[in-house]
Amino acid sequence: MKPPYLKLLPEISEANRPFWGALERHKFLFPRCSSCGDYNWPPYPACRSCLSEGLERTEASGDAEVFSYTIVHRGYGRFNDEVPYVIDGQARRETTPVHRRREHPWNS
Ligand SMILES: [Zn+2]
Repeated sequence: MKPPYLKLLPEISEANRPFWGALERHKFLFPRCSSCGDYNWPPYPACRSCLSEGLERTEASGDAEVFSYTIVHRGYGRFNDEVPYVIDGQARRETTPVHRRREHPWNS
């Protein structure tokens, strides 16, 4: 018998449903400004570069160069059973740095 899942799960809202739905399909979507083309991560209601609200969800290609990450050796709560793991990293995709976090519910 499979043990119960005891970790926090994300609260699904209309705003974040496309993101979590895409993750279920193993796709990573993030907002890209249709006015200036900048990527905006973490998501925000408007572009951080030009304040346009015209943001389109763009699928990450998966091609990136990782230049920073953190390995956790003493995990918080239920995650302590999974150490060591990577919780945070920075990757450069195309010409724009993209800051990624492990897909924990508190990062949504
Ligand atoms: Zn913009």
